Amino acid sequence: MRVILLGPPGAGKGTQAQRLVEKYRCLQLSTGDMLRAAIAAGTPVGLRAKDIMARGELVPDKIVVGIVSDRIDQPDARHGFVLDGFPRTVAQAEALDAMLERKGMNLDAVIELKVDEGLLMRRIEDRVGQMRARGEPIRPDDNPESLRKRLEAYREQTRPLVDYYGKKGTLRIVDGMLPIPQVAAAIDRVLGH
Ligand code: ADP
Repeated sequence: MRVILLGPPGAGKGTQAQRLVEKYRCLQLSTGDMLRAAIAAGTPVGLRAKDIMARGELVPDKIVVGIVSDRIDQPDARHGFVLDGFPRTVAQAEALDAMLERKGMNLDAVIELKVDEGLLMRRIEDRVGQMRARGEPIRPDDNPESLRKRLEAYREQTRPLVDYYGKKGTLRIVDGMLPIPQVAAAIDRVLGH
């Protein structure tokens, strides 16, 4: 199973990716998580990414493509993966196509979680409020200004991928505004399971 989850911040990609990983025993490749791990470990990639991420901007393609390429070359990625947060630009999608071709791999589906973008700011702010109430750590980019930047980056740089994969015929659309179990069921249907 090789799947890309596409959608704006707050669309529920992470939640659905985790469920797919449990159900299909494949790997979750979240570039956001990988970058946060690099920051926590103080690696050169982490040092470069830290301030860019806190502002809500995109990390340069070259860095992100490098970490994904290294990761999908590992033996445990052979049986499949769910990409969550990558690709985020057309250049990243082209780089991914080249990587997959080199490895003789195909994508099963690109799933767009379609949400009402006007409601996203509220949805993310609610999530942050709940995390704060539970005493969980808040991401440095979960502040109103960076949130606006993240949504803007999505609209300008990531949304063109809907067209990109639409033209290739791999795009499937799922309503991300439904309750979590129903989104999960819709994803299963799209994947034919
Ligand atoms: P969200 O989808 O909620 O914005 P992520 O964890 O996917 O959260 O990403 C957080 C940040 O990490 C992004 O705003 C960006 O700075 C960086 N990042 C993650 N994936 C990519 C990517 N594919 N290309 C560039 N930057 C990325």
